[in-house]
Amino acid sequence: MTYEKSIKAFEEAVNLMPGGVNSPVRAFKSVDTPAIFMDHGKGSKIYDIDGNEYIDYVLSWGPLILGHSHEKVKRALHEAVDKGTSFGASTELENKMAQLVIDRVPSIEMVRMVSSGTEATLAALRLARGFTGRNKILKFEGCYHGHSDSLLIKAGSGVATLGLPDSPGVPEGTAKNTITVPYNDIEAIKVAFEHFGDDIAAVIVEPVAGNMGVVPPVAGFLEGLREITKSYGSLLIFDEVMTGFRVGYNCAQGYYGVTPDITCLGKVIGGGLPVGAFGGRKDIMEEIAPVGNVYQAGTLSGNPLAMTSGFATLSELTEESYEYFNELGDLLESGLKEVFSKHGVPITVNRAGSMIGYFLNEGPVTNFDQANQSDLEVFSNMYREMAKEGIFLPPSQFEGTFLSTEHTKEDIEKTINAFDVSLSRIVK
Ligand code: PMP
Repeated sequence: MTYEKSIKAFEEAVNLMPGGVNSPVRAFKSVDTPAIFMDHGKGSKIYDIDGNEYIDYVLSWGPLILGHSHEKVKRALHEAVDKGTSFGASTELENKMAQLVIDRVPSIEMVRMVSSGTEATLAALRLARGFTGRNKILKFEGCYHGHSDSLLIKAGSGVATLGLPDSPGVPEGTAKNTITVPYNDIEAIKVAFEHFGDDIAAVIVEPVAGNMGVVPPVAGFLEGLREITKSYGSLLIFDEVMTGFRVGYNCAQGYYGVTPDITCLGKVIGGGLPVGAFGGRKDIMEEIAPVGNVYQAGTLSGNPLAMTSGFATLSELTEESYEYFNELGDLLESGLKEVFSKHGVPITVNRAGSMIGYFLNEGPVTNFDQANQSDLEVFSNMYREMAKEGIFLPPSQFEGTFLSTEHTKEDIEKTINAFDVSLSRIVK
């Protein structure tokens, strides 16, 4: 396996874009690997420009729940392109998509489409502040909610990967209004509310954290958040950009049976095109312009190609899809545990639906501090060996591993064998 063409393309790219990329994790910096340039994908496989084939567990960082280049999505998109790419006026497609989201997501009575997860969370916060008339928000260490100012505090994902928890450029006055506490720590939240409760507009949480690796909520955590926010008159925002339609048919809120006031969506909802959304209780959503005074807008929001891809993707998913993910997840989890134990390397596997995370420490891993105890050197050595074996994993410990409906049991078996081969090369 060679990366000659990727290496050449990256040499060109570094003079054209900061770090050679349009999003930091694509530089593969933390795993000390050449940035791999992709050419095409089909089903569970992705192919780089050197012609190498990989089983893909990144899936465009989550959106491709039906795998690459799905026939039905592709066909729908071809038809939509023929009609025109954007109108800047309403289409019936937007009604269809909104109805589907309202039917599928328990907390959403009304929804607004945007073009990314970042837009969804920043609009949700403005809405929460506008609705409650309060200033502060509470978030959790290691959770990532996009790159807007008030959310880039002790964040996960690429921010954690690059060790930049509090980005320069975020004004002090903004940072002051963001309170952070450890994930899964209900006592810390109680203390924060005792101090600042009357000025907390909202708690924003990933109902399954996916940006410090995968860290599911411990029993009672989400329920506790629901109770505390309600008693202080704060809103509860679930950031389901990653978990939405991935953890379960009715998103993480359906899976765990806890209903927030506002939900943010992204990734799967666009099926590979740029889509985000936020929605919630009708009385809250009607604070948004043009009904209410909280302003939010977007030139390409509800774009016909994005809506087509999202609608086609969500329509293909059934309750059975999620049962299938669980079957594959069971296989992967037991295979990983067996292989790592054979090589004497500690591993903790965390799962929720088709989100799977593994940490190279004994565990348990229930918060960011524990996630940080994973052995990052073994992680990056293993990453490189796995790539050589044709397995494309997220190039960071602080990201989740995803499954699609196109992954097969054979893919999982190959992946487990590749872990075996890789570990035998790196464990002396
Ligand atoms: N929230 C969560 C939970 C995410 O995982 C992400 C992206 N990884 C975002 C928000 C931001 O979404 P986007 O990259 O589409 O702006």
